[in-house]
Amino acid sequence: MKEERTFQTESQQLLDLMINSIYSEKEIFLRELLSNASDAIDKYRYLSLTDSEHFPACDHFIRIESDEKAGTITIIDNGIGMSLEDLENNLGTIAKSGSKEFLEKYEEAKEKGDLSIIGQFGVGFYSLFMVGQEVEVISKVEGGEAHRFHSEGKSTYTVEDCEYDAPHGTKITITLKKDEGDNHYSDYAKPYRIESLVKKYSDYIRYPIKMEMKVSKPDLDKDGKEIQGKYHDEIEDKTLNSMIPLWKKSVNDVTTEDLNTFYKSQFSDYEDPLFALNVHVDGLYCYEALLFIPSHVPYNFYNESYEQGLSLYSHGIFIQEHYKDLVPNYLRFLKGLVDSDDFPLNVSREMLQKTPEMAKIAKNIESKVLAELKKAKKNDTEKYEKFYKTFGEFLKYGIYTSYGMKKDELQDLLLFHHLKDDKLISLRDYVDQMEKKQENIYFASGKNLEEIRHLPQLEAKKKDGIDVLLLDQNIDEFCLMAMNDYDKKPFKDVSSDAVEASKEDKKKLEQLSTDHKRILDDLKEGLTGKVDDVVFSSKLVDSPVCLSTKEGGISMNAERVINEEPGEKSEEVKSSKVLELNPDHELIKAIVALEGEESVKNYASLLYDEAMLMQGYAIEDKADFVAKLNSILIQSAKK
Ligand code: ADP
Repeated sequence: MKEERTFQTESQQLLDLMINSIYSEKEIFLRELLSNASDAIDKYRYLSLTDSEHFPACDHFIRIESDEKAGTITIIDNGIGMSLEDLENNLGTIAKSGSKEFLEKYEEAKEKGDLSIIGQFGVGFYSLFMVGQEVEVISKVEGGEAHRFHSEGKSTYTVEDCEYDAPHGTKITITLKKDEGDNHYSDYAKPYRIESLVKKYSDYIRYPIKMEMKVSKPDLDKDGKEIQGKYHDEIEDKTLNSMIPLWKKSVNDVTTEDLNTFYKSQFSDYEDPLFALNVHVDGLYCYEALLFIPSHVPYNFYNESYEQGLSLYSHGIFIQEHYKDLVPNYLRFLKGLVDSDDFPLNVSREMLQKTPEMAKIAKNIESKVLAELKKAKKNDTEKYEKFYKTFGEFLKYGIYTSYGMKKDELQDLLLFHHLKDDKLISLRDYVDQMEKKQENIYFASGKNLEEIRHLPQLEAKKKDGIDVLLLDQNIDEFCLMAMNDYDKKPFKDVSSDAVEASKEDKKKLEQLSTDHKRILDDLKEGLTGKVDDVVFSSKLVDSPVCLSTKEGGISMNAERVINEEPGEKSEEVKSSKVLELNPDHELIKAIVALEGEESVKNYASLLYDEAMLMQGYAIEDKADFVAKLNSILIQSAKK
């Protein structure tokens, strides 16, 4: 019985966008449908290999038929097919969260006037409405009944039972739109046009894409010899694609252009990848892999809909998409596929995960990617920095989440901002530029570069011409903590209280502390609960005060990062702070001169607030700060 159904609202919106053709490249509709057909065959083939009783093996193909007069193009596959429920769920609604996101992004992109972003979304089946005014889908699953889905791209579609003489598979017939202006939709029914589109976008599809084509053949005489200059037309069943998957072709036969085109169509990206690796390994274990690092962050990278992992093939047969065990978490931006004859086909996906081959190949893929990155870092700084600015943070996560175990592999790929100039610097270069007497690698951390550069703790380092790494990403400090040192040089926070002073300075500071113990004690008392100590310091040049933290304890920046992390916390993390005073600063000299007076304690919290402000933190008690500041202003105004 024929039933009319309404498209889900989002599907209808997507349909409207397709009908009104937001893409300039309408021709990609064929690629999308052929890729669906190939996926459907992959699925059937996998079932027939694992359960041949219910899914008998057969020769697989995709067939294209066209009728120029009627203005139709038909794509037939003998893949897994769709039941009535599948037709409704897959074609009547947008099951994929990605498509919903597409609609949201489309609205955003439209507002910004930049539609290039939406090229990142594979809109699949619906893209046929860029060229078609009507579609009929007949589909059948093995052992099931056939059904017909019909839509004219309006708000409703129909489904009904029908006859289909194939045992399983799908037949999609598109009635092309009428030509208008520059849009020659009728061209898509022309065999030569179809052939060239298949070659351009779908050559690597592993199943034959067949079409009956008219070919011109020379006439033969009665002895079977060709008659010069005489030809006739014959219909030939032609396979349009080479069928050799790109990764099975010899490396020398595959150009970067081929890899880029493959990446863009396979992973729905509008930009070439930054890195494209064509890996063929033939040794103790064998595999082929196409690995890509995108040149920008995928649109959904930071939300749940992003699925990391590579597509997994065995003996050229597709097993699974987004296979996570092939890539370590810190390389989750990596896209691509792996095909290996070493993966046993007759075990379940869960078992496959545990095979030793899988672990070895995964390890090998990781080292290939890192080697490629190291090569680029050495030979193509611009490209490497582009990569690093986009995904470098993840390398640091790699070190941190492995508790430093990945240190040796990743440390030379890291780059940091630093005090001496605006460029990025590697740890190797930092260490090579250190003076002999410098024992530590110094770093300063904070919310952003601007604030870090103004940290009072950097004043002495600036004066002495000592370089400091500036850590502006939340992960930075945790990464360095996990590393502990580089080339045996320990990392040292300029904001920790134990940054070494010269021998003379130390002596001078000790003397000062004994002479003015009273003032230090009074200030400390005024800051009970806020700081653990108040000391004289040699770190400062222009500023009167700064706040540092106890060495070995948690820094103020780490305290901020941890407390800002979303999620429930049993209690706030608190660093152990020390207020450092610059004994050469006029303000500190003046306060020291007040030794013994009650007013000293009032200055304590103002000095603390000033240090907090300078280090990019908010004043904790604003009312108290303003009241104290006002009382001082009143005093000075009255004078
Ligand atoms: P995508 O292929 O990205 O999932 P599509 O809109 O192209 O999105 O297709 C939606 C779903 O419809 C597919 O995931 C698949 O389950 C089903 N489908 C589409 N074409 C076919 C086909 N030729 N054979 C079987 N199933 C298909």
